[in-house]
Amino acid sequence: MSGLIYLDHAATTPLDRSVLAEMEPYLCEVFGNPSSIYQSAREARRALDEARDTVADILNARAREIVFTSCGSESDNLAIKGVAFANRSRGNHIITSQIEHHAVLHSCQYLEKFGFRVSYLPVDRNGLVDLELLKQEIGDETILVTIMYANNEIGTIQPIEEIAQICKERRVYFHTDAVQAAGALDLDVKRLGVDLLSLSGHKFYGPKGIGALFVRRGVQYWPQQHGGTQERNRRAGTENVAGIVGFAAAMRAAYENFDQINGHSALLRDRLIEGILSRVDNAVLSGHPTSRLSNNASFCFENIEGESILLALDQRGVMASSGSACTSASLEPSHVLMALGLPAHFAHGSLRLTVGKDNTMEEVERVLVELPSIIEKLRSLSGALV
Ligand code: PLP
Repeated sequence: MSGLIYLDHAATTPLDRSVLAEMEPYLCEVFGNPSSIYQSAREARRALDEARDTVADILNARAREIVFTSCGSESDNLAIKGVAFANRSRGNHIITSQIEHHAVLHSCQYLEKFGFRVSYLPVDRNGLVDLELLKQEIGDETILVTIMYANNEIGTIQPIEEIAQICKERRVYFHTDAVQAAGALDLDVKRLGVDLLSLSGHKFYGPKGIGALFVRRGVQYWPQQHGGTQERNRRAGTENVAGIVGFAAAMRAAYENFDQINGHSALLRDRLIEGILSRVDNAVLSGHPTSRLSNNASFCFENIEGESILLALDQRGVMASSGSACTSASLEPSHVLMALGLPAHFAHGSLRLTVGKDNTMEEVERVLVELPSIIEKLRSLSGALV
């Protein structure tokens, strides 16, 4: 991608070449079905077992507590619906937050059709959940709390240990969507105290189409995909062996190089934040000023459309993302930005820049030259139209 600048690592990351090299033997040569008994199948099974051990080690979990899935969305669906349906006799109440990924929100909304009651907790201006409100909301009927570790749009990191402690005291299962946290934050499930945790390979330089769900031993949940006995009867379907090998290899690399990758990201992120806020008028940082992902710099610019910023950046070779959901004819600001309580004339002008390990300070400096001129131009155009 020479000349192009990729600043959308929260959307997806490129597959690391060393990860691809580890996956390759399992695509063509060692293609046996891990459930079969001949040598190639046994080799595939061995690779699966090793990958599961690697992931379990990083999570400080047991290998049997890891279920491989097809993506982060499936992990969220399995966690939420699986726990809800299996624990229906204990209660019908679920608590989540207003700023979750749609994989969580839509799973919760689906459960409402089956008689579950869902509380969608508000967040403050920085995107943090109010723990007192959480405590008040937990009742006798509550069976599950699902609150994300870190937000995909604004990068805010929730106090997961404290939430887990509250849930433990009230004997309620706690699931966290850690899809954006993987590679950027500690995933030690014992320290965090979570019962279920979702992951997705393509967010930390692994392949797309592979995810994992940690489920603490003893947690009652029902499979959501039926068929064969794979994943110890918890997720039917022939395993994506190469994907699972890639998932584990990418995760190992992310945690072996954790300080270096996150230190580098934070340096670039901080320069973007400082540079943009000092060069562009009427701009605000969205998300928490300090409790935020090391790679996330997201902003709202007053009186401007996020989409037009993205198009202008794209013309200058910069790939980024906005918080707007283009699902409706009128571009509504995202549910996340609305939940922060930002006025609409700010929320419409959202821009998310998420850096990665291969970005350079030179690229950041180029964006710091391009972006202010883009915003100035767009504002003068929209002013001229009024
Ligand atoms: N949860 C969060 C917080 C995400 O950011 C994403 C993807 O963007 C997902 C879940 C879904 O992951 P996947 O794309 O693997 O389905």
